[in-house]
Amino acid sequence: MNEPNRQGEVWVFAEQEDGVLSDVVLELCGKARQLADELGVKAGAVLPGSDIDGLSQKLIAYGIDHVYVVEDTRLAHFQTSSYSRVVCSLIDKHQPQIVLYGATSLGRDLAPRVASETRAGMTADCTDLEIKDVTDPRTKQVHEKLLLQIRPAFGGNIVATIVNYDWWPQMATVREGVMPMQDPDESRSGATIVEDIELDDSLFPVKLIERCVEPRTVNLKGARVIVAGGGGVGSRDSFKLIHELAGAIGGAVGASRAAVDGGFIGKEHQIGQTGTTVRPALYIAAGISGAVQHRAGMEESAKIIAINTDPDAPIFSVAHYGIVGDMKKVLPMLVSALKER
Ligand code: FAD
Repeated sequence: MNEPNRQGEVWVFAEQEDGVLSDVVLELCGKARQLADELGVKAGAVLPGSDIDGLSQKLIAYGIDHVYVVEDTRLAHFQTSSYSRVVCSLIDKHQPQIVLYGATSLGRDLAPRVASETRAGMTADCTDLEIKDVTDPRTKQVHEKLLLQIRPAFGGNIVATIVNYDWWPQMATVREGVMPMQDPDESRSGATIVEDIELDDSLFPVKLIERCVEPRTVNLKGARVIVAGGGGVGSRDSFKLIHELAGAIGGAVGASRAAVDGGFIGKEHQIGQTGTTVRPALYIAAGISGAVQHRAGMEESAKIIAINTDPDAPIFSVAHYGIVGDMKKVLPMLVSALKER
């Protein structure tokens, strides 16, 4: 057990690549702002890297008060040992009460390392965070304003609320796309604090020889419209109907896991608990049952249209408009109606 610092800030780990902050960081800035206001403390961000000019001001515009910058050419690319040393040193110095990371591959690597080095608690893959007073069932002691860390558990069949009574700071990784990104306020003021942390060469055991970046062909996160197909589409050939509607409406193509497992389309199109989380303006689900693991990735969409032969399919419980019918008949009708316009 370590002592809580109830005056400590709420921090976001500011993951960036080549001087570009990842979207989940900007999403977390809004959440950190909200949690900090509820706790009556400041919101902070830890920003390690090289050539990161301008990012501090951006973090401030998205709701951060204090940006702790550690700039070093050796920090240009992520290495667990050096980045965890940076975060641990800053935690030790400033004693935040909450530290949030995106549940990206980098965040999933860094956060547990920091948690173990600082002997803090950590909940992975949260989908929501709240502040509440909680009674410890072991001691009956009421803890004021603790962080509730909410995430799917048991294969997505339940939503678990995890509370950390004893291990501080409270840490969580948060799934990308589950928190709405707030609009930036360029007039906000905050402080950039340049930190000087001694980093021994032994903290950089990996020598980067070459970077091969795979071009990103699927941009589900940025899509305003997504047409997604599921197991009910039946085959890779029939999946062309999904591509056709997406093309006609100017949308991206998504899929359920059944469609991916069936080989109808690649895994990078999968939406849901183990795929991408999306919140487009319009989500069209064709031949998708609406299992809880799929809904976890799309139910925050502004408008959902479901097409399914089964009137009792669970997808209809989250759909704004439902069409009970065969997608192989409905989709061509939609495409020709769109082309006529
Ligand atoms: P099916 O269950 O096969 O349902 C097909 C649907 O299509 C049915 O509702 C049927 O009525 C309808 N249908 C059939 N023919 C037609 C037709 N001609 N026209 C219209 N409708 C028709 N799933 C995900 O999607 N994403 C995830 O990220 C994900 N992660 C998971 C993680 C874990 C740990 C586990 C255990 C499961 C996960 N799953 C995920 C799988 C999930 O539980 C479901 O199995 C999956 O979502 C089912 O996909 P589906 O609804 O497309 O297929």
